[in-house]
Amino acid sequence: MSDKKNVITIDGPAGVGKSTVSRRVAAATGFAYLDTGAMYRAVGLYLERHAVNLENKKEIATAMKSLNLQLIPAKNDDGDVGVAINGEDVSESIRTPEMAMVASRVSAVPEIRDILTEIQRGYGKKGGIVAEGRDTGTVVFPDAKHKFFLDAKPEERARRRVEQLQKKGITSSLQQILDLTLERDKNDRNRSVAPLKQADDALFIDTTVISLETVVSRILREIAEKDGR
Ligand code: C5P
Repeated sequence: MSDKKNVITIDGPAGVGKSTVSRRVAAATGFAYLDTGAMYRAVGLYLERHAVNLENKKEIATAMKSLNLQLIPAKNDDGDVGVAINGEDVSESIRTPEMAMVASRVSAVPEIRDILTEIQRGYGKKGGIVAEGRDTGTVVFPDAKHKFFLDAKPEERARRRVEQLQKKGITSSLQQILDLTLERDKNDRNRSVAPLKQADDALFIDTTVISLETVVSRILREIAEKDGR
């Protein structure tokens, strides 16, 4: 019998379609959906509000101790995961391009990653989750049974992001989002802890020219085959 965990991990850079794909895979398998990016965004918002110096370990530790992070049911039609910090629903405020950059900065701090990784592992303890992020297949759930890594050309990822933001009523220029996407990719790929990279045993899918429906079907087929169904 396999000792792998009944967890599906879906990693990749910003704007690659991970959230949509992960939500649909979760719905099709009946698994819970864990949006790890939402957690980094919420921590970023909290630390920014409290003007925490990211170079100061003591300040970070104190702030993290006073933070109660909760994933709550989504309220919007996009199916975005909801997040509350110390009881305050911050689901909408974490979804801006600025907060994405803040999340990218806090996510490079090892002490913050350690705390969030532990919380994420707690959610996956019993299996039955689809975890989405940058390091879910490499660091959070290295023993996950099903791992996927999505990528797409930066221009296409930026185009999708602009479209997503537009739906939320946030206007942004393609060039601005492309620049932010490239900067975030660079930060996420080059940080020393848990950098964005494909796990050796993950299946790579380029989503540049294929629809997200096709990506979902491919993933579900792969899972069924591996599970011997
Ligand atoms: O996925 P999302 O765009 O919401 O992630 C925001 C940021 O959080 C990423 O750019 C990345 O820096 C960080 N992140 C991470 N590890 C994860 C998920 C997100 O470092 N597992």
